[in-house]
Amino acid sequence: MTENNQLPLLTDTCLPFQIEGQDIKGRVVRLDRSVNEILKKHNYPDHISKLMGETLAFTALIGSLMKYDGILTTQMKGDGPFRVLVSDFYKSAENKMIGDIRGYASFNDGIIEGDTLEDMFGDKGYLAITIDQGKFMERYQGIVKLEGETLTNAAEEYFRSSEQLPTKVMLSCEKDENGHWQAGAIMIQHYARNTEEEQIRDQDETEDHWNTASVLLGSLKPEELLDENLSLQNLLIRLYHESGVRIFDHTLIKEGCRCSQEKIRAALTSMDLEELNQIAEDGTINVTCDFCTTVHKFELSKLLH
Ligand SMILES: [Zn+2]
Repeated sequence: MTENNQLPLLTDTCLPFQIEGQDIKGRVVRLDRSVNEILKKHNYPDHISKLMGETLAFTALIGSLMKYDGILTTQMKGDGPFRVLVSDFYKSAENKMIGDIRGYASFNDGIIEGDTLEDMFGDKGYLAITIDQGKFMERYQGIVKLEGETLTNAAEEYFRSSEQLPTKVMLSCEKDENGHWQAGAIMIQHYARNTEEEQIRDQDETEDHWNTASVLLGSLKPEELLDENLSLQNLLIRLYHESGVRIFDHTLIKEGCRCSQEKIRAALTSMDLEELNQIAEDGTINVTCDFCTTVHKFELSKLLH
């Protein structure tokens, strides 16, 4: 354990770990303040907030894997009543130990509690994950069909098709009696041995390790993943105490939007006068950010100069 991991990590954190002596790596995320700040801005019905919270936890889980600064975007779209659900994770070059998350959803009436992903996003529903790490790495996009019932199914399918590593995922988001939300995500992945010799020698043993680790993860209850009195380190120790667990440097997660007056001004000034007149009201253009709901105001007369 490194020094900064000795503090009990409770929430708004992603913690990577490895099961001692095994080819199994994982990550765990718990969101509290960040998820509440985001959900409060949008005021969605509870069953939409729950899906948003799970998506944010999943986005933080995989976004914090980015080696360099960049943006990871999770997007679900289709031809069902749910038009789009987007969330992204941004890691800046200045501070790689902190990630900003944000998200928004757009949907029609008619989505009810208990609807599967297929009900919500239709036959053409898909999950797209885009990773953009600027000049450091080529832009990556992975797409999977939303065929399963839950986001956990879609997340596992994404790892199966994109990384071809056995992966087990658990996602959860719940509201307590005070209206306070908690979101969590945990995953483990089975890495193959590096050399052929080791692969042959240890095949049965590593298979056993993976089966045991999967069963243990399956025994984790959503309440434990979200329990704010149980630190993330203790949660991992509770799960994998028999083999031991090595914990690596954590990433802090906070709510953050990258919209700015300057960026929107640049987009508006590239439009022609007729278009600007159409969206202006009493000489003013108001642009609301889908993510953080901030209203950016512009005087039409000033934009034209
Ligand atoms: Zn914004």
